[in-house]
Amino acid sequence: MNLFSKKNLCPICGSLNSWLLPLKIEDEYICGTCQNKIDIAADKEIYLTMQGLREYIEFYDRNQLLREQFIISERFDFDHWDTKIIFDYRHKMFCMSKKPDKTVFYGKQLKSFTIKEDSIPLFEGSVAGIKRYVSTVPERAKLFAPYIIHFLMKKHQTRATLKSDDDKENQMTTIKCFDVPGPFQTFNVELHFDHPYCTVIKCDIDAPKFSSDNPDLNDYIRSYQCSIERIEKMVVAFKTVAFPSAPEQFISLSQ
Ligand SMILES: [Zn+2]
Repeated sequence: MNLFSKKNLCPICGSLNSWLLPLKIEDEYICGTCQNKIDIAADKEIYLTMQGLREYIEFYDRNQLLREQFIISERFDFDHWDTKIIFDYRHKMFCMSKKPDKTVFYGKQLKSFTIKEDSIPLFEGSVAGIKRYVSTVPERAKLFAPYIIHFLMKKHQTRATLKSDDDKENQMTTIKCFDVPGPFQTFNVELHFDHPYCTVIKCDIDAPKFSSDNPDLNDYIRSYQCSIERIEKMVVAFKTVAFPSAPEQFISLSQ
């Protein structure tokens, strides 16, 4: 087979297709370079037509100018698997990555956002306003105190019954970890766009956890407050680029 036959040339850019797992659209194989440009939801990707991909690549190349202009004013890099977002306050843009290597959005393309603690709203933002709901997490965390006391007592008793240091070393490791899940598992972030290639982005940030070997309610609350401070900063960043004059409102769920 002739390597340079039409079959092996990318129909978008014309370069030789040496990609091992090429994307197939309308029976033609897209090269790795063009494939790497695609930053749209996987479920939309399977419906791409050749014409649709051509238009998308044009959009991508125009967006490249914004990536080149991007000046990082603020970076949110939550733990390694978690959400990463950078903001450019000067050009009122943001990008869901730790550097401008994905689609760059103008703040005005963001219609609204929500941040929830599992399914309970914490923030809602749009041009109409930024709502902040009073969280019940600190109160709910206190309900874990009896479990923590029970765990620490059991650990203390087990340690007291073991005589030699070797016994302690061997058997303490077999004591079950404190594996009680905290009051919530995830901050769920949802962004809604007015954009031709992106209508919604959902991402999450891990909730704080109790220490597995030495759980402490105050440590948990401190860690939760740290997370909240970062989330608050992120809300301010979205407000700055997307809804600078939106009014702010506190809402208590019990009202
Ligand atoms: Zn190509």
